[in-house]
Amino acid sequence: MREFSVRSEILDFDPYTPGLTIEQIRERYGLANVIKLASNENPLGASPVVQKVMAKNLDRIFRYPENNTPKLVTEISKHIGVPRESILVGNGSDEIIDMLFRMKARPGVSNVIGYEHSFAMYRMCAKLAGVEYREVKRGDPFELPLDKLAKAADENTAMVFVTSPDNPTGQAASVEDLSVLAGVLPKDCLLVVDEAYIDFVWPPESYTPVQAYDKFDNLVVLRTFSKAYGLAGLRVGYGILPPKLLGYLKNARIPFTVNLLAEEAAIAALNDDAFYNETLQVVMSGREYFMEALPKIGCKVYPSQANFVMFEPTKPAQTVFKSLLKKGIIVRPLGSFGLGKMIRVTIGTEAENKQFIKALGEVLGA
Ligand SMILES: *Cc1c(COP(=O)(O)O)cnc(C)c1O
Repeated sequence: MREFSVRSEILDFDPYTPGLTIEQIRERYGLANVIKLASNENPLGASPVVQKVMAKNLDRIFRYPENNTPKLVTEISKHIGVPRESILVGNGSDEIIDMLFRMKARPGVSNVIGYEHSFAMYRMCAKLAGVEYREVKRGDPFELPLDKLAKAADENTAMVFVTSPDNPTGQAASVEDLSVLAGVLPKDCLLVVDEAYIDFVWPPESYTPVQAYDKFDNLVVLRTFSKAYGLAGLRVGYGILPPKLLGYLKNARIPFTVNLLAEEAAIAALNDDAFYNETLQVVMSGREYFMEALPKIGCKVYPSQANFVMFEPTKPAQTVFKSLLKKGIIVRPLGSFGLGKMIRVTIGTEAENKQFIKALGEVLGA
């Protein structure tokens, strides 16, 4: 076999580690029932309304989709009260993150800032784009150090990333703090607020800067259909961006990255209030249950505004993770986030949550 040279200098990072799949664990341990609480997916599964809409559109898949999903942009615009010119739909919000890096960060010149223990995509995209990624230390207990982010920025800082609510800690930044941060960043620097879990905060107006979007000229907000809307497998997300920047991204993007069925599904999901509200209800009551049940079996649990909670078990996280796997429960140990003692568990259905707590109690001997 021939060995080809590649730009290996951009590859020296740990590849993204996804959560294990149900099929992998079924096979490995010969289990019939496996529960996955590892990737913050929707506990209710796929909405029947969305499934019907997709089935109805199946005969259209020989056509190309409309580029930049104009129908979905209109629906999102109506839904969140932001003009169409500021909305860009992507193949997951991950695609928007990737586009932002390629458009805004200059290889070898720019730097990008985020805090430690955050979503691996930011660091990975920085590496691939050939730009410095500055990781800002957190305080204890994992507060979001917005003032420290501002201090780390200089005239070459292209973007500052804040995940709010945060993955994996579950903490959320207030809209006041985000506004202050947006105001003090250097002139050419974007504040990118990744709101993948914004649906699960209460009350939303205290956390999302989107309501006052027109007050900012350096704000990008990222949202996704992967979590609260239950469409992780279809890959749809969107960004809210200053219109001029959005225009550049649109011109430079690969056409048709969001497929025709995904667009129809996302439109249906946005209008499926019953499924959305039930999701929020299941997540919020499950979150309360975990906050109560985890300390009872000796775990230190961190308050969460997302659809998961982070906790520290009384035995090594990796051991607990493996013992739970053997019992058919997949959770997410946080070693890849630099939090080797912690585990993140996604909120499931009431029955799944109970089964998880029971199994964890057995594993911990509590
Ligand atoms: C899940 C998640 C996303 C969403 O990614 P998609 O590409 O839209 O599926 C973005 N950011 C964070 C921090 C996440 O946890």
